[in-house]
Amino acid sequence: MLELNNYINGEWIGPSNSDRNKVINPANQEVIAVAPRATKEETEEAIAVAKAAFESGVWSGLTAHERSEYLNKIADKIDENFDELVRLEVMDNGKIKAEAEFDIADAAGCFRYYAGLVLAPEGETYQVPEDVQAMIVKEPVGVAGLIVPWNFPLLMSVWKIAPAMAAGNTIVYKPAEATPITAMKLVEIIEEVGVPKGVVNLVMGRGSVVGQTIAESKDVDLVSFTGSTEVGREIMRAAAGNLKKISLELGGKSPNIIFADADFETAIDHALMGIYFGSGQVCSAGSRVLVEESIYDKFVETFVERAKLIKVGPGLDENSQMGAINSESQMNTILKYIEIGIEEGATLAYGGRRLTENGLDKGFFIEPTVFTDVTSDMRIVQEEIFGPVVTIQKFKDEEEAIQLANDTDFGLAGGVFSNDGAKALRVIKKVRAGITWVNTFGPTYNEAPWGGYKMSGIGRSLGTYGLDDFQEIKQININLAVEPSGWFPNK
Ligand code: NDP
Repeated sequence: MLELNNYINGEWIGPSNSDRNKVINPANQEVIAVAPRATKEETEEAIAVAKAAFESGVWSGLTAHERSEYLNKIADKIDENFDELVRLEVMDNGKIKAEAEFDIADAAGCFRYYAGLVLAPEGETYQVPEDVQAMIVKEPVGVAGLIVPWNFPLLMSVWKIAPAMAAGNTIVYKPAEATPITAMKLVEIIEEVGVPKGVVNLVMGRGSVVGQTIAESKDVDLVSFTGSTEVGREIMRAAAGNLKKISLELGGKSPNIIFADADFETAIDHALMGIYFGSGQVCSAGSRVLVEESIYDKFVETFVERAKLIKVGPGLDENSQMGAINSESQMNTILKYIEIGIEEGATLAYGGRRLTENGLDKGFFIEPTVFTDVTSDMRIVQEEIFGPVVTIQKFKDEEEAIQLANDTDFGLAGGVFSNDGAKALRVIKKVRAGITWVNTFGPTYNEAPWGGYKMSGIGRSLGTYGLDDFQEIKQININLAVEPSGWFPNK
């Protein structure tokens, strides 16, 4: 069993009280780690350290080149520790090995991307009417509070830590209580490559204590949060105290529109991937599949046949194709939604059960689940379930597809499948979402911005926009005619 510690001002600090978080493996409920639950005071201390480190210039004062070198070294160490990080992520989160391998490789790639981006030319100059040279430069925001969820524990952390560090900010980092293990491993790597003390501070503990303190603190200049819409709202309220900058990556209920002229096999394959990857615990999951009526019956039949083939099991078992649900409470939430769907009158076309056979009884496993005969007013169509539950709905034409796709408070992602390029583009342009795909569903790229419209959030992770979120823009105006203006009398 691992003993996890906080990391503040370059020191590993054990628990200060008897309150401990027991971290379990969701595939079998074994306790795999114990983590500290930091108090408000400890969180405030970490914030003060990050503030002092920022003001000292120990990080922001480095050249971009020097920071870039640190980021590349972190990426190299992630690669060196790849197998261990994969194993820990699987045990902590419940996902299958192949998914964790993708996450860890992408985490290293993200550090390398920002190591490169920070060296790119930046800033702008402007033509202004006066004899003035006007320009902008970009500067770090200051102390960045990073609050991370449990569905992609390392990757979601890196999407924030890499650009925050690249830009020259100092950090207070809170992983989710459910999945703190790779957070500690990452911070060990950050220490190992010699990042100056005080730059990255890790504080584990409850969202309502550690997270809330970060969101409220007047000494935190920016909070970057990924998680539920409800907590996102709380962060926004708490951040109002000092009008700190906020970046929120929240939930979704993303539509995946399948036209009759799509390549059928491709559409089925990607629709399955869209909902069952990560056992559906993915903010951008394609949880609402919309299918043109002429192929609806065939699509549902084939989709259900394929869903039946998915092998659900422990992430470390090479045969597993879909892993565990991250926690008992998340599993119960999903099962509750399945009950709600049945009560609402939807047809449960497949799945819906907790799986306990074949040694799965100790873990949190749910069958891939399919609902049909759904209407847009149903809760299972409107609310984020965050599990392997898809609704498949029928549409008659392009107009109705767009109307159904946008009939949601969320706007994170969306997909269209069609072999008519003009139609696919016409439709995807009308989908009110920040991340969209044509003839695929789900890929993310470190180079491309990630974030949502409407209640799916504010700001963008990744790409150049992901760096912008961690930077202030300063206008500099240099008078080229150094002489009095004569505006006021000089005698
Ligand atoms: P939360 O939004 O509660 O948790 C995300 C992070 O925020 C965790 O680190 C959590 O801490 C922290 N947190 C919780 N409360 C506060 C607070 N008051 N102030 C600051 N930080 C806080 O998500 P859950 O884990 O409870 O999941 C619930 C639902 O959220 C899911 O069913 C899903 O719908 C959605 N979700 C969406 C994600 C996405 O990627 N868009 C990711 C995760 C969840 P801790 O858990 O350690 O207490």
